[in-house]
Amino acid sequence: MSRLDYSTQLIEQDDIDGVIEVLKSPYLTQGKKVAEFELALCKYTKAKHAIAFNSATSALFSSYSVACIDAGDEIITSPISFVSTSNMFVQLGAIPIWCDVKEDGNIDEEKIEQLITPKTKAIVPVHFAGKAVEIEKIHKLAKKHNLLVIEDASHALGSSISDKKIGSLSDMTIFSFHAIKPITTSEGGAVLTDNDEHAKKLRLIRSHGILKQELWHSDMLSLGYNFRMTEMAASLGITQIKKLDRFVQSRDKIALYYDERFKDAELFNIIKQKEKNITSHHLYPILLDPKIHSFKESIFKELQEGGLGVQVHYKPIYQNSFYKERFGNFSLTTADSFYKSEISIPCHQNMSLKEAKFVADTIFEILTKYKEQKKS
Ligand SMILES: *Cc1c(COP(=O)(O)O)cnc(C)c1O
Repeated sequence: MSRLDYSTQLIEQDDIDGVIEVLKSPYLTQGKKVAEFELALCKYTKAKHAIAFNSATSALFSSYSVACIDAGDEIITSPISFVSTSNMFVQLGAIPIWCDVKEDGNIDEEKIEQLITPKTKAIVPVHFAGKAVEIEKIHKLAKKHNLLVIEDASHALGSSISDKKIGSLSDMTIFSFHAIKPITTSEGGAVLTDNDEHAKKLRLIRSHGILKQELWHSDMLSLGYNFRMTEMAASLGITQIKKLDRFVQSRDKIALYYDERFKDAELFNIIKQKEKNITSHHLYPILLDPKIHSFKESIFKELQEGGLGVQVHYKPIYQNSFYKERFGNFSLTTADSFYKSEISIPCHQNMSLKEAKFVADTIFEILTKYKEQKKS
C-alpha cells in the first residue's frame, strides 16, 4: 500500500549513508556497529545489557531458552499478540495459559493470579500498541509466586511508565526492529536485561554457543544458533534510535488529533492512555461498537477502498488452527470481542495532520452509513 498504511518506516539520508558506509567496510556482520547499537539501546532504556538479534522472534526464543523454560512449564500470556510471543515457548514444549485482556487489549492483571499453578514458570505480558501494561502489579504477583516476567515489548520501544522507559523493568524485555515497528533495522530484535547470567547466555546462544578466545582458539560451551544481527542492520539501528523520540512525538501528534476527533464517536471507541505514561503509538486502534461487529468485513473493505491501509491486530492466538489442534478450542470473552471490534488505522511518523484529517473524515463518512444498521 502507500503513505496511509497503518504503520510504516521513515528512512532518511543519514540512515542510507550509514548503511552504504558499512557496505564499503570489511565487516558485514556482528561487529562494532552491533556493539554500538547495543550500547545505544542500554543508554536509551537504562538497562544494563542489550543483546541484538536478527529478529524479535529469535530474541524471544533465546530469552525463553536462557530462562530454562522447558517441556510442561506453563506460561501465562496474552492472546492478543503476534503468534511468535507464544510460538517460541511452545517450541520449547511449554504450555500457553491464556489470560483474558482488558478493553485496551492489554493482559488483565486482575485475572493472572487465578491462573497460577505449581507448573507456572513465567508471565509474558505484551504492551499492546505501545500502551504499557500494569507492570507493577504483574511484578508483585511474580515476586509472590516466584515467577519470571518476560515482556514482549515489540510495540513499545519509546514507551515509558511514569518516567521509566520500558526495557529496564523486568527480567528480560524483547524489542522488535521489523520494518514497521517503532524504529527499524529492516529485520531485527533485541533482549534487554539487568541479569549478567542471562546476558552471557544470550550472547552465546545467538552465535552457536561459541566463546571466542585468543588467536584462533574458541570453545563451544552450549548449543546455539545463528541469530546474529548484520552490521548494516545495526547501522540503521544507530541512526534510527537517535530519531526515536521525534518519531514518538510525530505519532503522538497524529494520535492526539484522532483522540479529539473521535472522542464522541457513536459507532466506535478509542483506547484511553494513562496520563503519566508515554506510549510509542505503534498502532492506533479503533474499536467498533458491538452492534456493528457483524459488518466488520464490509467496513474494513470500504476503508481500504477509501485509501486507508487498515489492518486488524490480532486474531487471538488460540483461534489459529495450530493452537486449536494442539491445545483444543478455547475462548475468552474480552479477547474474542476485542478481535471482533479492532481496526488499526494509519498512524506513523511519516504522516501529516492533513492526512490524519483525511483518515478521520473517511472513517466518519464510511461508518455513518452503518448507523441505520445499528438501529435495526
Ligand atoms: C512484530 C512482533 C513480534 C515479532 O517480531 P519480529 O522482529 O518480526 O520477529 C513479536 N511480538 C509482537 C507483539 C510483535 O508485534
